[in-house]
Amino acid sequence: MRQYQLKETKEITKIICNRCGKETKVVSGIPKREMLHVEHTWGYFSGKDGESCSFDLCEECFDEITKGFLIPTECKDE
Ligand SMILES: [Zn+2]
Repeated sequence: MRQYQLKETKEITKIICNRCGKETKVVSGIPKREMLHVEHTWGYFSGKDGESCSFDLCEECFDEITKGFLIPTECKDE
């Protein structure tokens, strides 16, 4: 006798930049272009207590957004 378990898997096939809509294919779990992914769950002292937010940005949109920062992002070579 053989018993089977039905398994469902989720695999990312593409990442879409939330700002410009540019699509990046993901093959075998590896994006064809570097993308920034942000996930955050807001805490008690915010107006969004318990709300989770996430978004993805392409490098060009990251550059455009961070260019508007009063204090520049801290970047270093790894
Ligand atoms: Zn973009």
